Amino acid sequence: MTSNAAAQLQSLKEEIEASDITPELKSQATQLVFGSGNSSADVVFIGEAPGKKEDETGEPFVGAAGKFLNEMLGTIGMNREDVYITNIVKYRPPNNRDPLPEEKKAFLPYLQAQLEILQPKVVVTLGRHSGTCFLPDLQISKDHGRPKRIKLAFKTTSTAFPVVVLPLYHPAAALYNGGLRTTLLEDFGTIPLVVNTLEKS
Ligand code: URA
Repeated sequence: MTSNAAAQLQSLKEEIEASDITPELKSQATQLVFGSGNSSADVVFIGEAPGKKEDETGEPFVGAAGKFLNEMLGTIGMNREDVYITNIVKYRPPNNRDPLPEEKKAFLPYLQAQLEILQPKVVVTLGRHSGTCFLPDLQISKDHGRPKRIKLAFKTTSTAFPVVVLPLYHPAAALYNGGLRTTLLEDFGTIPLVVNTLEKS
């Protein structure tokens, strides 16, 4: 982590903690699950919202879906220290319910600010909640594994930042579905290709 980006991420985290964003979620959650990993990573993974384990530990993707994510990273020769991992919604929804549209909307400017600090080459979205934040017309069954170049809006500047979004299925959806598991692993295998193509272009 470069100290500058790390310091900026830390102050963004404190800004969210100090805000009264999603009071219902905040009052029931143990803590904010902001994000973790390498702040100079080329690849940022964005999930939906923390679950029970994440709420307890303050780290994203540390439960069953997280174990599968670690395993998939291993198949492409990477680990969690090579990438950055976060969620759109950063407080655990009660009983792991789906995040509400207004909760995603409330957190989006903070996610944009986080990405403005990280400046990744590739944003890998996990599941449709995160995918539709960047690709509003996303149909996950048709569009999964297809990288798309977009211009990302930032929170503090009007400059749009070019990034490639790779929409994938959510690892939790693939945990108990052999077909989806195979598809997700295949799609995951394209990540190094997508990053390398960008390096050459
Ligand atoms: N599912 C998510 O979307 N995010 C997590 O952090 C854990 C499970």
